[in-house]
Amino acid sequence: MKRSVEIGVDVSCAASKIARGQLVAIPTETVYGLAADALNPLAVAKIFEAKQRPKFDPLIVHIASRESLDWLTEDVPAIIQKMVDRFWPGPLTVVLPRKSCVPDLVTSGLGTVAVRMPDHPLARRLIEQSGKPLAAPSANLFGRTSPTTALHVADQLGEQVAYILDGGPCQVGIESTIVAVNEDRLILLRPGGITLEQIEELTGTGSVVIPDSKQASRDSSGGLPLVPGQLKEHYAPLTPLMICEDIFRSTARTRVGLLTLQLSEADRKRASEMFESFEELSATGNLAEAAANFFAAIRKLDGQNLDLIIATPFPQQGLGRALNDRLNRAAH
Ligand code: AMP
Ligand code: MG
Repeated sequence: MKRSVEIGVDVSCAASKIARGQLVAIPTETVYGLAADALNPLAVAKIFEAKQRPKFDPLIVHIASRESLDWLTEDVPAIIQKMVDRFWPGPLTVVLPRKSCVPDLVTSGLGTVAVRMPDHPLARRLIEQSGKPLAAPSANLFGRTSPTTALHVADQLGEQVAYILDGGPCQVGIESTIVAVNEDRLILLRPGGITLEQIEELTGTGSVVIPDSKQASRDSSGGLPLVPGQLKEHYAPLTPLMICEDIFRSTARTRVGLLTLQLSEADRKRASEMFESFEELSATGNLAEAAANFFAAIRKLDGQNLDLIIATPFPQQGLGRALNDRLNRAAH
């Protein structure tokens, strides 16, 4: 464990590191971010280095005011304006044509940039004090489980960051929903903390296109934007993870852990006999609670030297969509 890094709540200290082009881990409501001055390409390059993230995977730029969106992007369509009015600050990222002040490294050379206003007071104060938008992917090594506490960051990237701003455990616990727009229709590039149901309630049923992931990542012949960086393998623990509806189907492995939304009393008893350990994400089956616990539970199981983690799928509705997306990638 690399805890020699400074962890605290000193926003001025964090801002001075950002001004010097260093990396600061920041709390957001989704997951902890690895932040740098988005307008400084040398600082942004350090993010890719620290995470060992491929340069074709563009970053999300975090802002603290609606005006900053105009500063970074060309004109904002009415449907996006409606979305940010409702969901910002919050776990919604919008992809729009970018202005030239945004470095190529941030967007992987795309003509668009992804922007979000996080709903965490420390993150927003840091952005305000820095006077700069912050590029910030999740503060973990590329492809691995996202961090939802300051200690998770210290464990994996403690030696790479200049300061960890500690904002407590993340309230939402999974990444933002990413949308782009194509001729008045929204394209759901990544399911996340804002649900499809919440969006459609605002913009109308059928207003959201969900791209076929295989097609969208291969080309844009259907007029859909590319979905870069949405790799099939992501969020992965080091222990093999398998998705399975029937948790009591026997496996040949001996040390097996279970990750599940909710267990009945009888199943809980059986699970404690059959599994080396189990993580029940919400005793009441609440998907928001499950999301907040999700990555920490995977990390906990991953730290137990198990042969296998068995995970049950979530109901494919509300936050369950984003949770299934993360689970499928973690299992790939
Ligand atoms: P994260 O890894 O959580 O920081 O999210 C970054 C993800 O946002 C990338 O992997 C892409 O899927 C998406 N993204 C960022 N910028 C763009 C863009 N300009 N166009 C489409 N998707 C983007
Ligand atoms: Mg990530």
